[in-house]
Amino acid sequence: MNDGFVNDGPGPIHSPGVGGAALSGTEAQTLLRELTDASPNAIIAYDREERLIFFNPAYLFLFSRMAAVTRIGAGLEEMLRHGIAQGQFPDAGTKPETQWAWLARHLAEHREPGPSRELALPEGRWVQLRERRSASGHLVCIHSDITRLKTAEESARRQAEEDPLTGLCNRAVLFRKLAGLQLGQRGRDPRTACLILFDLDHFKVTNDSLGRSAGDALLREIGQRGLSLLRGGDTFARLGGDEFAILLHGIGTAAQALSFMGRLRARLEQPLAHDGAIVTPSLSIGASLFPEDAEDAETLFRCADTALYQAKRQGRHCHSFFDRSIAEMLERKARLADQLRRAIAEDDIQVAFQPQASTRDRQHRGFEALARWSGAGQPVPPSEFIPVAEEMGLIAPLGRLVLRRALGAMREFLRLGLEPGRVAVNVATAQLLSADFPREVRQELEAHGLGAEHLEIELTETSLLDRSTDRIVQVLREFNAMGVTIALDDFGTGYASLSHLTQFPVHRLKIDRRFVRDIEESGSPSPIARTVIGLAHGLGLEAVAEGVETEAQLAYLDEHGCDLVQGYLIGQPLGFEQAVAYLRRAGALKELAGY
Ligand code: C2E
Ligand code: CA
Ligand code: CA
Repeated sequence: MNDGFVNDGPGPIHSPGVGGAALSGTEAQTLLRELTDASPNAIIAYDREERLIFFNPAYLFLFSRMAAVTRIGAGLEEMLRHGIAQGQFPDAGTKPETQWAWLARHLAEHREPGPSRELALPEGRWVQLRERRSASGHLVCIHSDITRLKTAEESARRQAEEDPLTGLCNRAVLFRKLAGLQLGQRGRDPRTACLILFDLDHFKVTNDSLGRSAGDALLREIGQRGLSLLRGGDTFARLGGDEFAILLHGIGTAAQALSFMGRLRARLEQPLAHDGAIVTPSLSIGASLFPEDAEDAETLFRCADTALYQAKRQGRHCHSFFDRSIAEMLERKARLADQLRRAIAEDDIQVAFQPQASTRDRQHRGFEALARWSGAGQPVPPSEFIPVAEEMGLIAPLGRLVLRRALGAMREFLRLGLEPGRVAVNVATAQLLSADFPREVRQELEAHGLGAEHLEIELTETSLLDRSTDRIVQVLREFNAMGVTIALDDFGTGYASLSHLTQFPVHRLKIDRRFVRDIEESGSPSPIARTVIGLAHGLGLEAVAEGVETEAQLAYLDEHGCDLVQGYLIGQPLGFEQAVAYLRRAGALKELAGY
């Protein structure tokens, strides 16, 4: 039986800790044995010929798979070979070539002991190995168990790199892998990759209707299903919420990427049962290709994100590749939104006043206020900046500014003794959805010392079709109660029904200019214009025709009883000074006509 002790034994040892007295050989041997027996560290020693001359019980415990060869006199190489065969060293792998390389490296390290190193053992244990060659040429190795330290390190690494819900990588790891692409590309072998971003359509609905735990289960399942499609070296990350990313190596063409997306959809969109409910996930996917679309991590990610945005705009449940023209359009929009935001903050928005007159006698009745903006010195048409403002959440501050300018001008007109009538201000749905809006308008009217009879708000039919109809009705009723009139703009182009018209307190219908355009030179009939006029009168409302450019149109509208007209024939949209001149002229004409 192996007693783990050196046959020739160490000589007498001096222990300053034990009273400073020299111990006899036997005493020293006993003490040494007690110390090494008690040590939690595995201690082992070899002689110059690499034969085992010492080991302690902790060694047998930690290296239990080598117990059969751990006996005094055993050779180092023989022991290591046996250990490899018994799976004592998981790092050595299972293939002969990796095992051979492992053995060669370890023998070399034993022969030239360097600083301490770490060694993996089975069952996830780790030891730190310190080796020292003594003056007499013996090799002494001390192995301390560092499993707990390693476990703590591993869990810290996980926390830093792993998404806790799904166990997938997190954003930081994805970006490290993306950055790795760049480095790889500079090498001789140009690599290709595809970045896929996807999210779950209407995930919020699942979360809200089935509860968070169902939402979490869905996300975990998506992670598991996705992982089953990946090859080694690919990366699957959850970026947060229901947003995921997959980085595929070796995929450089759209066709290859498409085929993967097909498999992804087929696998991930399978129904899933949770707590008696069935959820069928649906994905929106955006993809970009490396290096075709971008050669750096940030841009590649942005490209895939743009593609995902595009897929969602196409109505979700679809995929889209990065497309440069879309990216340019989005960039222009973002730039425009930026400039517009600044312009609003600096009050750099103007208002043009387009006159409205009675059809019958062309008497001035009021203005429509139209926003005007010169971004970077160039006038930007409202048809371009209004939609951007609506999309980027700038329409409310823009609308506020237009209202203030319009009312400011009205007060000036009145102060100059002119008769401006009422000013119609265009209002977007987002503004109507704010419960505060009527109060804001009232405050502006008061601040300018104007009565409500000087203001009209214009909204489009689409506002009436918004899902929050109840709130909009409420807001419109408040305006009505205040005495502010309401005009329905671009009438006939949307889908407002008669029931909408009776439900909402509306005072005027504006006939869209495309129907006015239908009235030709000869004054030939425009059935829609005529019908809208009839409809307005039937409901007790006034009809206003927009875009009136010719006398023939005016005559036709007059003949059919249209109440008001607006258009280049009556007047272009005017700046403040021009509007003053226009009102002076209108006043003079009125006097001449003897009103
Ligand atoms: P809209 O409310 O239908 O405004 C009438 C548009 O027709 C104006 O274009 C005006 O300049 C143009 N127009 C007027 N008379 C004629 C004519 O005889 N012939 C032709 N061909 N066009 C005529 P603008 O100023 O470019 O405004 C375009 C749209 O932008 C407006 O259409 C309105 O929807 C929106 N908009 C303008 N200002 C504002 C605003 O302050 N707030 C909101 N929410 N939208 C605004
Ligand atoms: Ca309008
Ligand atoms: Ca209009």
